[in-house]
Amino acid sequence: MNSITSIFKEKRLKLTPQRIAVYKYLQSTKKHPSAEIIYKALQEDYPTMSLATVYKALKTLADVNLVEELNVGEGNFRYDSNVTAHPHIQCISCGKVEDIDNVTFSDLNIRVKEFTEYEVLTNKIYFYGICKSCKEKVVAVESN
Ligand SMILES: [Zn+2]
Ligand SMILES: [Zn+2]
Repeated sequence: MNSITSIFKEKRLKLTPQRIAVYKYLQSTKKHPSAEIIYKALQEDYPTMSLATVYKALKTLADVNLVEELNVGEGNFRYDSNVTAHPHIQCISCGKVEDIDNVTFSDLNIRVKEFTEYEVLTNKIYFYGICKSCKEKVVAVESN
């Protein structure tokens, strides 16, 4: 884990309890929550923290590369504390966003580099589909 303390120190940013709380929450989940969900989840422990503070904390964390902003096309961002490049898949039925493990970008990056002669720095890939549990629900409705 990248030490949030040393990164903030290096960037001369103030390590506020709110920023730590937002980062810790993101590390505790694999659900790629939006700012609103993080805000609601932290309400109990940080009742005075506003949604705007959560947004600002997320922006700061993203600026120093401790969290990744995911734009799956919903009009707002999702957040991930796993900043190692990995693809995501979203269920178009229930909206959940999951990591695709065991799929790496290295082959794709090499091919893109070959075809375009670009120096590939990063990529963001989103897949869309219907998750297993939503698929089962559809089957259950159809068989009734
Ligand atoms: Zn689903
Ligand atoms: Zn992820």
